[in-house]
Amino acid sequence: NQTPLIIITPTYERSEQTAELTRLSQTLQLLIWAQMPLIWIIAHDSRVCHENVRALIDRKLGSNPFGNRQELQGHKNYNRPLVGTRLPVTILSAPMPSAFRDPERVRRFGLPRGVAGRRAALSWLIKHTRANDPGVIYFADDDNVYDLEVFEEISKTHRLSMFPVGLLQPSGVRGPIVDVHGRVIGFLGGRRPFRMFPVDMAGFAFSLALLHQKRPLMPFRATMEEEGFLRALGVDYGGIEPLANNCTRILVWHTMTAAPQVNSFQIPNPSGYSDTN
Ligand code: UDP
Ligand code: MN
Repeated sequence: NQTPLIIITPTYERSEQTAELTRLSQTLQLLIWAQMPLIWIIAHDSRVCHENVRALIDRKLGSNPFGNRQELQGHKNYNRPLVGTRLPVTILSAPMPSAFRDPERVRRFGLPRGVAGRRAALSWLIKHTRANDPGVIYFADDDNVYDLEVFEEISKTHRLSMFPVGLLQPSGVRGPIVDVHGRVIGFLGGRRPFRMFPVDMAGFAFSLALLHQKRPLMPFRATMEEEGFLRALGVDYGGIEPLANNCTRILVWHTMTAAPQVNSFQIPNPSGYSDTN
């Protein structure tokens, strides 16, 4: 009877992808163990999704969470696979339209990272759910760090909720400023003062009903994705539901993984091994 969480994750192939999706999928796995109703939509920024991605999500490790200690052998969970079971995931192919990758356009406007994926996931939801189905939607990029409590908080959302996100420039945190009456009166740390909602993608959640009602489109416009989307939802400051103890707690961080500078996958073989695999 709990509201299902609908997690939308745009992702794309690069050297860090497996590491990012390992962390996120195992965070979500903990929600499944806690019996939180969950739908995970992965939108892959390519025409076909590499088999590795599905294999990562679908894999079943034969290990058990209690180690090999003798006394636990009779435990009911002794042979329970640790990872990869029962993650209810839908993988969509959602390539960014090639026009947005045009170098001249990228130089002038930036790259709308993840927008094609989020849009595809929202269209999928409009098609495959009904307007009165329960559900709360959250955009969870593959590279952020999520405290499990952020998901508990999000599930309280009625229409549109907001909460702070840590590790963002320029002030270290971006999120709503809440007055003593629990009302949102402004925002902290937005880089662009003319924005109405200078928040991060990971700093808000909204109901499936609101999606059906407004059918908002996220603009293909770098740095204005949140603003365009939230304006299209048509909720003013008074309608924002502050979470995370009136936005005083940081439960999600905008971490960024540095890609290693790898210029060759050649394996040196000074000892002349016959098999370097
Ligand atoms: N992303 C994508 N295609 C791209 C670049 C990024 O699908 O060409 C995804 C990425 O995996 C992440 C989200 O879009 O989930 C935001 O991208 P990123 O983290 O690189 O941007 P930042 O957080 O630095 O704005
Ligand atoms: Mn990111």
